[in-house]
Amino acid sequence: MLDKELLAFGQKFHGHKCPAMPMGLRVGLAAMEKLGVEHAPDGQLEAILELDEEHCATCFADGIQVATGCTYGKGNIKRLGYGKWGLTLVDKKTKRAIRVVAKAEAMMKSKQSEFMEQRKSGIPASQVPAEVADPLVEMVSNTPDELLLNIGEVFTKELKEAAHTFESVVCDQCGEMVVERNARLKGGKVLCIPCSGYKD
Ligand SMILES: [Zn+2]
Ligand SMILES: [Zn+2]
Repeated sequence: MLDKELLAFGQKFHGHKCPAMPMGLRVGLAAMEKLGVEHAPDGQLEAILELDEEHCATCFADGIQVATGCTYGKGNIKRLGYGKWGLTLVDKKTKRAIRVVAKAEAMMKSKQSEFMEQRKSGIPASQVPAEVADPLVEMVSNTPDELLLNIGEVFTKELKEAAHTFESVVCDQCGEMVVERNARLKGGKVLCIPCSGYKD
């Protein structure tokens, strides 16, 4: 059962009602429970997603962000590009990790729904009527873990840790701030990448 407040917060953050965001919440929460960790206030956890880009149900990633505190802003969430709805959650301190994936049967229920028919016909998720979206959200919210998810065993995973740099400089041309290691030297000037004309 998904906590109503967390679901409401997730939907507000995400912007619409769909089954994939709450599926991300369920997967994230199950991984945290199995690892025995809390929502990460800093970079304690790392989420490694198997999603790719521009395919159905990438909304899943927003549920993972809300549940785990692994966010794009903190930089502790990554995408492997497999086009799958698996999550490996790593507790960096203990190097313990877990993989949780949404069951194909549960994903199929969303896929073969009126909601998805409307989405495929070009209707944005926010315009799908509540009576079509709500039952799917409820299904994902209320189905017990064992019918919804495959939860793996805890294993050891070491992550390469790069220290966060605090160094930055001002570009001599545009006057905007740029992280020092991203600045380029050209003709005696310190330039950001766009001003330098270099590709990277
Ligand atoms: Zn969505
Ligand atoms: Zn510049």
